[in-house]
Amino acid sequence: MSEQVFDKQFFADSLVKMAELTEANRDYWTKLDSDIGDGDHGINLSIGFREVSEKLAEKLAESPDTATFLKKSGMILLSKVGGASGPLYGSFFIKMGKDHIGKETVTFPEFADMIKNGVEAIQFRGKAELGDKTMLDALLPGIDYLQAHKEDTDYLAVMEKMIEIMKEGAESTIPLIAKKGRAMRLGERAIGHKDPGSESSWMLMNVFLEQMRK
Ligand code: ADP
Ligand code: MG
Repeated sequence: MSEQVFDKQFFADSLVKMAELTEANRDYWTKLDSDIGDGDHGINLSIGFREVSEKLAEKLAESPDTATFLKKSGMILLSKVGGASGPLYGSFFIKMGKDHIGKETVTFPEFADMIKNGVEAIQFRGKAELGDKTMLDALLPGIDYLQAHKEDTDYLAVMEKMIEIMKEGAESTIPLIAKKGRAMRLGERAIGHKDPGSESSWMLMNVFLEQMRK
């Protein structure tokens, strides 16, 4: 088993990088959403993560542990973002640390469980299933792989494969008709377009991998 542990600063740095990623991909994610939604996905996440970034030092200082810090950051996303994605990503961070309250650091298997808790919170809130053409089409196959391999020695290889699977999951949304979210209204006209949330979600999860490489 890996000896690697992840502390509050690891998650804080990840959130800063997620905010940077969001700024860099704001127009791209918005373009995806203008194809099958209302063209605001990148804008929504940019508003949310910018606020997370601005409040980061304050939230970090007032949080005794990682779980509390993540929860406070998730609350910002939930309250600041108008679109569906704000409460969904907000729930991810709010619930991520729920089984690790009071911990200074988490191991890789614990990190894997946190990702699972976060994704399950998205599913609980949004009630979408695999194949509904949402962010869950990227996230669900990824967490299954992560759970199955969380005790592997080479945790970076596990993360790389998880991201690859999530990316494939995002691609898999292209031929689908949406059963949740705004794209639902388009019916068959959604076919041929990638779901914006599936793209932003694997890219955001990839930030954890990039931070682990450091
Ligand atoms: P809105 O749809 O309110 O404009 P965004 O454009 O920010 O919000 O986000 C759209 C993304 O949210 C979609 O691409 C999809 O991945 C995700 N989404 C929407 N509804 C759900 C749901 N019920 N469950 C999971 N993801 C969802
Ligand atoms: Mg939208």
